[in-house]
Amino acid sequence: MSQEYVWLITGANRGIGLELVRQLLQAPSNIVVAACRNPSKATELQELAAKASGRLHLVALDVTSKESINRAAEEVAKTLGGKGIDYLVNNAGILPGGQDTAFSMDVNILEETFVTNVVGTAYVTQAFIGLVEKSAKKTIVNISSTLGSIGSDFGVQSASYAVSKAALNMLTYKEAKEKPHITAISMCPGWLQTDMGGKSAPLPVSVGVGGILKTVLSLKPEDSGQFFNFQGERVPW
Ligand code: NDP
Repeated sequence: MSQEYVWLITGANRGIGLELVRQLLQAPSNIVVAACRNPSKATELQELAAKASGRLHLVALDVTSKESINRAAEEVAKTLGGKGIDYLVNNAGILPGGQDTAFSMDVNILEETFVTNVVGTAYVTQAFIGLVEKSAKKTIVNISSTLGSIGSDFGVQSASYAVSKAALNMLTYKEAKEKPHITAISMCPGWLQTDMGGKSAPLPVSVGVGGILKTVLSLKPEDSGQFFNFQGERVPW
C-alpha cells in the first residue's frame, strides 16, 4: 500500500478550501480533515464525504474561537488514532474591508480582519503543531496574498486585508525559524473566482488550487520560511 498523507484544511466548506478538498480526494493516498464553522450545513462536504470511503472527515472549527480550535484539535487527534497531520493548510480568511485605505479604514474592520487572518491562524497552528510534528511531512501552508507583499507594490487599496496578510507572512517566517525541522510557507493562491475573489477574477478556483498543490508537493526543506505563488515562484516580501 502506498504511503498515506493527512491534510487538514481550514475554511473547507467553500471557495479555495472546498476545491482543495475535492482535488486532494482524487488521490487515494490522501486522508483529508475538512474544518469549517458549520459541518451540519456544509452540504458539498457532506456529499464528498459520502463518496470518500472514510478518507474525508468533517470537523467544526471557528478560527476566531480558542474553545472551538481546542475542541477540534482533540477531536482530530482521536479521529486520526495516532497518525499526525502531514499538511496543515491555514486557508480560512476574510476580506471585510474591501478596497479600504490606510487613512480611511475603519479600525474595527482592521481588528476583525486581524483576528481571523492572523490571530486565528497563529492559534490553529499552536493547537495542531503536536499533530503536525508527529507526521512525515510536517508542513504548514499559510494561505496569504500578494496584496500583503510590500515588494509587489499594489498601492493604496485593500489596506486592512493587506496589513493582515503582511503580518501573516511574518508569522510564517517566525514559525519556520523557530522550528527548523518543519516546513512552513506562505502561499498566494492567485486571484480566483470565489466569493472573496469575485466573478471578475481571472482564474477559476480549480487552476489556482491545482497550482497550490503542485507547489506544496514539490517543497524542499530549504523552502521553509518563504513566500510562494500558485505557479511555484517566489513572491517578494
Ligand atoms: P471565500 O470567502 O470564498 O471563503 C472563505 C472561507 O473561510 C470560507 O470557508 C469561510 O467559512 C472561511 N472562514 C472565514 N472566517 C472563518 C472563521 N472565523 N473560522 C473558520 N472559517 C472561516 O474565500 P476564498 O476561498 O477565496 O479564500 C480562501 C483564502 O485564500 C483566504 O485566506 C483568502 O485571503 C486567500 N486568498 C484568496 C484569493 C482569491 O482571489 N480568492 C486571493 C488571495 C488570497 P464560512 O463559509 O463559514 O464563512
